[in-house]
Amino acid sequence: MRRRLLLSNFVLIGVTLALLSFTAFQATRRSFETFRAAHTAVHTQVLMDALEQYYVAQQGWEGVQNEIVSLSLVSGYVVTVVDVNGELVANTLGRGAEPVNQDGALFLELALTAAQTPIGTAYVDQSVELEAVDASFSDDLVREFLPSAFIVLGLAVVLGVFLARSITQPLVEMQEAAVEIAQGRYGVQIEAQRPDEIGALGRAFNQMAAGLADVERMRRELVMNVSHDLRTPLTIIKGYLDGLLNGQIADRRSAEQAFAAMNVEVNHLLHLVDDLNEVARLDAGNVVAQRELADVNMIVEEVMMRARPLAERKQIALTADVAAGLPAVRVDASQIGQMLFNLVENGVRHTAAGGRVNVAAMVLDQQLVLVVEDDGEGIAAEHQTRIFERFYRVDPTRHGEGAGSGLGLAIAAGVAEMHGGQITVESEEKRGSRFTITLPKTNL
Ligand code: ADP
Repeated sequence: MRRRLLLSNFVLIGVTLALLSFTAFQATRRSFETFRAAHTAVHTQVLMDALEQYYVAQQGWEGVQNEIVSLSLVSGYVVTVVDVNGELVANTLGRGAEPVNQDGALFLELALTAAQTPIGTAYVDQSVELEAVDASFSDDLVREFLPSAFIVLGLAVVLGVFLARSITQPLVEMQEAAVEIAQGRYGVQIEAQRPDEIGALGRAFNQMAAGLADVERMRRELVMNVSHDLRTPLTIIKGYLDGLLNGQIADRRSAEQAFAAMNVEVNHLLHLVDDLNEVARLDAGNVVAQRELADVNMIVEEVMMRARPLAERKQIALTADVAAGLPAVRVDASQIGQMLFNLVENGVRHTAAGGRVNVAAMVLDQQLVLVVEDDGEGIAAEHQTRIFERFYRVDPTRHGEGAGSGLGLAIAAGVAEMHGGQITVESEEKRGSRFTITLPKTNL
C-alpha cells in the first residue's frame, strides 16, 4: 500500500509539474513572440520609409550602401536592397555578400515604392546576434524553470514518503496487534491519539480488543463458576450415594433423609441449568421479547401463584398491589413473569419469617413501573452495584435451599434491557430491599 501511495503521489506531482512548466513556458514564449512582432513591424516601417525617402531624395539608389549600414545598426537587421531589375544595390554585410539568409527565423520581403511606382525590394533578415539571443531564450527559460521544478519534486518526494508512512504505519501496527489477538493475547492496545480517521480506527480497534478481553475473561469466569456450582451439589449427592451403597446409611429414616437431601441438590442443579440456559438465550440475543398485548394483573397473579408455596413455607406475607385501570402492555409476558418471580423468590429467601414481600405495578410518566419490595435482611451498599453481575453472590459460602445460582438478578437485568428498560435497587441492611423495573412507553 505504501508503494502504491508513493507511486500515485509521484505520478500526480510529475504530471502537475510538467503541465505547469509547459503552460508557463508557452505563455512566456507567446508574449515574447508578440513583443518581437511589434518590434519588427515598427523597425521595418522605419526602414522602408528611410529607403523610399532616400530614393526620392537621390533620384536613384546611388550611394545607398553607406545608408544601409547605419539603418542596420539602428534596427539590428541584415538588410539587402535590390532595384526593380533585381540588381543588388546594397547589403549590410557588404556589396558582395549573399543577399538574404532565407533559413533564418525572420525573413521579410518588403516592396519599395516611390509615388506608387515600384523602385525595388528590401530583404530583411535577423542579425546573427539577434538570432543568438532568440535561440538562447528557450534555453534560458528551461534553465530558470529546472531548479524550481527539482526543488518542488524533492519536496513532494519527502512529503509523499512522510504522508505514506503516517498512513501505513498505524495500519501495520494494527495488523500486528490483530495477529497478537488471534494468538490469544487480548490485552494488546495500540497508539491511537491522532484526531483523524486513522486515530478513530485505532480507538475502535482498542475498544474491540478490550471487548474481546472482557468476553474472554467472562468466558473463563463462567467455566470456573459453573464447574464450581456443579461440583458442590454433585459432591453432596455422591456422599449420600456412597453412604447408601456401602451400608453406612442403613436404617430407613436415615435413608429417607439422604434422599430428601439429594432431592434438594438435584433441584438446585436443575435451577442452575435453567438459569444458565436463560443466560445463554439472553446472550444469543434471539429472545427479543415475543411482544404481545398482555394484562399486567394476569402476569402478577401468575407470579403470586408460583411463589405462594415458598412464601407460606417461610411464613412470609406475599401481597400484590396492581394499580387499577392499567392498560394492556406490549411485553414478553413469560420473560417479565420470570423476572418478577426471580425478584419475589429472592425477597422471600432473604426475609425472615413474619416478614413481607410486595409486588406493585403502575404507570408513571408514561412508563410501566414494577416494584418488588421486602422488609428482609437488605443488601450492604458495597454489594448493591455488583449484585446484577453474573454469579455474584453476597454470601458465596451459602449453600443448600437458601442459596441461589447468582444468576437470578443478571437474568432480570437482561430481561429489562431486552424491553428497553432498566432495573435498579434501593436497599438498607436489616430494613429491606426494593427492586424497581422501569419499562419505557414503547411497551405500553
Ligand atoms: P441468587 O440466585 O444467588 O439469589 P441473584 O443474582 O438473584 O442470585 O442475587 C445476587 C445476590 O444478591 C444474592 O447472593 C443475594 O445475596 C443478593 N440479593 C438478591 N436479592 C436480595 C434481596 N431481596 N434481599 C437481600 N439480598 C438480596
